[in-house]
Formats: sequence, structure tokens, C-alpha cells
Amino acid sequence: MDKPKYKRIILKLSGEAMAGNEGFGIKPQTIQTMVDEIKEVHALGVEIAIVVGGGNIWRGHIGEEMGMERAQADYMGMLATVMNALALQDVLENNQVPTRVQTALEMRQVAEPYIRRRAIRHLEKGRVVIFAGGTGNPYFSTDTLAALRAAEINADVILMAKNNVDGVYNADPRHDETATKFDNLSHMDVIAKGLKVMDSTASSLSMDNDIPLVVFNLNESGNIRRVVCGENIGTVVGGHE
Ligand code: UDP
Repeated sequence: MDKPKYKRIILKLSGEAMAGNEGFGIKPQTIQTMVDEIKEVHALGVEIAIVVGGGNIWRGHIGEEMGMERAQADYMGMLATVMNALALQDVLENNQVPTRVQTALEMRQVAEPYIRRRAIRHLEKGRVVIFAGGTGNPYFSTDTLAALRAAEINADVILMAKNNVDGVYNADPRHDETATKFDNLSHMDVIAKGLKVMDSTASSLSMDNDIPLVVFNLNESGNIRRVVCGENIGTVVGGHE
């Protein structure tokens, strides 16, 4: 049987991962595929916290480009993450995976508020915890949320699931055929080389708190389990690999 390398993980799913090929909205079939994999990893006894993005519904900077006040547009983005979290929760629970959604924006009727010690308790009891509502602050991203919660709950790693990108490259592999993939990088490399892994706030938070990341392709079946079991797919950032 597969032996997990990590005991407690944060899985970062971008909003795009909920959308399927259209890149917009929520597609239950796409979520089902992810849930099958999450269920597999859950069955290995791994404690799983999930951070969901919202870019499939709304992004703050797009609202700003359309003339909205940035903070207002960002709050809309945070609300988008709550919709994704509820959709994911629904599919997980339909597949007998116990879950709790915790949101940084108070919304008592739909989800628990974020309480760190309670989140840890849920994880210890085998519940998948989905963190919604971003950090609760405008001008941040859900990547920053992943780094923040990873530090708070003492996660061993952040799994940065990417759509159709299998790691970190020195150039965009879709436009440059000489682009090569890194197997390992330090957080400092990512920041200094300006590599597009996370935004710089999230990268520096991960660096300051020694949180390793694994960047990998979500769209290849079985990859979440492979990463959790320590297979060398994707790119490892930070850590002592
Ligand atoms: N957002 C925010 N504060 C946060 C997290 C998210 O204001 O702590 C807003 C921001 O507008 C962002 C949107 O929510 O554009 C959706 O999150 P993100 O872009 O990180 O989602 P992803 O790219 O992972 O789909």
C-alpha cells in the first residue's frame, strides 16, 4: 500500500480547477474527478485542508480594471471562493468524505467561522477542512491564504495543483520550446528569478515560515496521491529535498 510522506497537507486548488474546459463557472463533473483523488488520499490517513480560489467566478483586479474600487472588487472575489468551497463540500460529502467549511468572512448560515484550533481539531478527527473567504482582507490572494493557513495549522507541505502545467519552468512552456522544468528550487530563487509560482506576498510568507510547496499538474489522474506519497513529479520549492 502507498505510504504517505506527509501527515498534514494544504491542497491549493485554483478557481479554474472547478471550472472544466470553459475556464468559467462551476462544473460538478470536474469537481468529481478531484474528489475521487482527494478521497483516495484521505483513505491513506492524511489530514487534508483545502484552500480554494475564486478566479473561475470573479477576480478583484478585473473589477478594478472595469472601474470598481479595488477593495470592493476583492470582497466579491472572496465571496466567489465561498461558492466554490460549498460546491466542493457538496461533492466531497456525496462521496462520504466528512468535511467542514471555515470562512474568514463571517457567514454563519453557510459555514463555520475560521477558528484555528477548531480547524486543527477537525483535521485530527479526519474531516477535510475547506478554507473559504480568502484571508478576509482585500489586496491578498488565495495563494497567500494557503501559505498563511499552512503556517497556522503546521501543515507539512502546500500542494499547488496547477491546470495543465506540470511544474515550474524557466520560461513559459506554451510559448517557448526551450523552456526547462526545475525539479527543486528555493523560495528565494522563485522570488529573485520572478518565477510565476505564487504571488510575491505568498512566496515570502512561505519562505519566512519554511513551508515547502510542490507544484504539480492536477489534470493527470492520480497525481495528488503521487505527490502525497513523495513521488518526484512536479517541482519542489523550499524544504530540504
Ligand atoms: N481575494 C482577496 N483576499 C484574499 C483572497 C482572495 O481579496 O485573501 C480576492 C481577490 O480579488 C482575488 C479573488 O478573491 O482575485 C479570487 O482569489 P484568487 O484570485 O486567489 O483565486 P485563484 O486565482 O486561485 O482562482
